[in-house]
Amino acid sequence: MAALPPRPHPASVRTLDADGWRVPLGIPADVDAFALASPLCRRCGGRGAVRKYRDWRTCACVHRAVFRACLDTYRHCQANMTGSGGCAFELVGHAQGKCAITASFKRAEFSADFVMTARRALAGRPIERAVFEFHFLAGEEWKVAVSHVNSRLRLARPLYRGSFFHAVYRAQEMVARNILASAPYRLYPTSAYFAGFFLSAADLTLTRLRIH
Ligand SMILES: [Zn+2]
Repeated sequence: MAALPPRPHPASVRTLDADGWRVPLGIPADVDAFALASPLCRRCGGRGAVRKYRDWRTCACVHRAVFRACLDTYRHCQANMTGSGGCAFELVGHAQGKCAITASFKRAEFSADFVMTARRALAGRPIERAVFEFHFLAGEEWKVAVSHVNSRLRLARPLYRGSFFHAVYRAQEMVARNILASAPYRLYPTSAYFAGFFLSAADLTLTRLRIH
């Protein structure tokens, strides 16, 4: 009796590698979309990538995870701005092989970079910008933030709970996409930001922020 052919492994999230797993577009090589994806996401099923036409795109749940990580670090920096370790001396590499020792204020630098990157990403989007300022930076609850956004923007159709949280998700996604696209001083992974940067000649030819 001939041996039966081996049964294929049942399809599951864990077998995606054998099933044609693709790294989604628009995400740096050192950021793992699979690890960041929400297991309960209805769009990607926890894979971190969604099919769009012939490509695999990064899912919104990955962008939101990146944004939350940066926001947590920002709040931590704000709370500990004057604590010990606020000023550090670091070795800065140079393209010509030289290096220098500079005093850096990483917490202040991260806070400023995060806020400025977000404001640049949300320029021209007044609703998302106001939501970011009141809900994320000022830390207001949604009920308070809704009234502040409506009174500042004087919208013809004021935001309510549903439209407010849709704006929250849009703002998170737009900011995170710009954070991942910025080079060479990328805010995420935040541990790499605080570890310092070594620039190559190729890095120095990049623009500071590439907006897609
Ligand atoms: Zn997802």
